[in-house]
Amino acid sequence: MIVMKFGGSSVANAERIRHVAEIVKRQTPEKPVLVLSAMGDTTDHLLAAADLALRDGTVSVGIIEELHRNTLRDLGLGEKALGEVEPLLAELRSLLTGISLIKELSGKTKDYLVSFGERLSVRIAAAYLNVFKIKARALDAWDAGFLSDSNFTAAELDAESWDRIPKALSPLLEKGVLPVVTGFIAKDRQGSITTLGRGGSDLSATMIAAAMQAAEAQVWKDVDGILTADPRLVKAAKPVETVTYEEAAELAYFGAQVLHPRAMQPCIKTGTTVRVKNSYNPEAPGTRIIGALGKKAGPVRAITSRKNVTLVDIVSTRMLGQYGFLAEVFAAFAAHKLSVDMVASSEVSISLTLDAVHDLGKLKKDLSKIADVEIKTGKAIVTIIGDVRRSSEILQRAFGVCVLLGLQVQMVSQGASKVNISFIVNDTQAGEVVTALHRCFFEPLE
Ligand code: ASP
Ligand code: MG
Repeated sequence: MIVMKFGGSSVANAERIRHVAEIVKRQTPEKPVLVLSAMGDTTDHLLAAADLALRDGTVSVGIIEELHRNTLRDLGLGEKALGEVEPLLAELRSLLTGISLIKELSGKTKDYLVSFGERLSVRIAAAYLNVFKIKARALDAWDAGFLSDSNFTAAELDAESWDRIPKALSPLLEKGVLPVVTGFIAKDRQGSITTLGRGGSDLSATMIAAAMQAAEAQVWKDVDGILTADPRLVKAAKPVETVTYEEAAELAYFGAQVLHPRAMQPCIKTGTTVRVKNSYNPEAPGTRIIGALGKKAGPVRAITSRKNVTLVDIVSTRMLGQYGFLAEVFAAFAAHKLSVDMVASSEVSISLTLDAVHDLGKLKKDLSKIADVEIKTGKAIVTIIGDVRRSSEILQRAFGVCVLLGLQVQMVSQGASKVNISFIVNDTQAGEVVTALHRCFFEPLE
């Protein structure tokens, strides 16, 4: 069997749901399990409604009700589907009324609230698949075996889920029923609804695929898989054929918004293939994410960049060989609750980067007792994701490019994750560097 996951934009309206049904129909011989997100921006709308109830005491669910009712109507779904959707909408309204009266919104209530998005979308999609002559059944995650801890808004799945999921889903598949499962949500042992964190339905899909020993977990998007660079920066960006789980996770952290970084975890355990597919181009092979690449793979998988980065250069004013310098520097960052991205250090100096959103005035004052501190704004991190066993080759070629561009590289680090080499340049140069690196690694000379 396979798992097919469709995100919010893929099920945003009646037309998109029809399109999903077409794609699923073609793959029914492979016994798919479907995992869906909430329709469109429903999760955001639910959170906004909660906020409004909390602050103004207003219950406003118009957009959400309208979207789901219109979709039911546009799909030509009858009384039966309406009978499944209306009680959920009524429950949602009561919950928001409750929030507006109590003026309290705990993580637990928030998870209960956003769960309506996925619970509504699977019911509508399953009803439509049935009309479309595919025997389908909507399942809430807890009826599909998902059990989590009680860490509301960012729950971890309980190990028991590995047995519970096949127990719940296999009998349905044997009867020729296509399960349509809510992504993103679960229940804890007390029976409270939890969520796996924003974007968590990728993890729901990979968890089902791993637990069911599926042939693959397909994550359907609206791009041709993972791309070699941001297509807005690099016209020649193209889909990556194959990447490792580690490279895919690294890409997710570095802003290629393709998969949830945690989504790879279950499939790493079982070696299950994850495939990113394009719902606008279903014939394209997409990107395959697997354990290890063959010998013929090139050294680099993709190039990303992140702008608006601040570089902090710290040079110790004490004598060489004094211990505790790095510890004191990190303690200062921790005291100001500043999260650091890149680090490069020597015995007496350290350079760090962080997102430009922070005010670093107080930090600078604290650190000035032990070091000279220079804060440089307007920087960008350029990251090369690839096979770091070939780092010498990658660095040589990458810095060759920088020399040609006449660029000064301001800091370099090679991630311990073994797949990422990052360096800092000026914000204004980021686009040029990424384009030139892409040409160097991905565009063979004709
Ligand atoms: N609907 C949830 C969100 O928007 C989960 C997901 O889409 O994966 O975060
Ligand atoms: Mg979503």
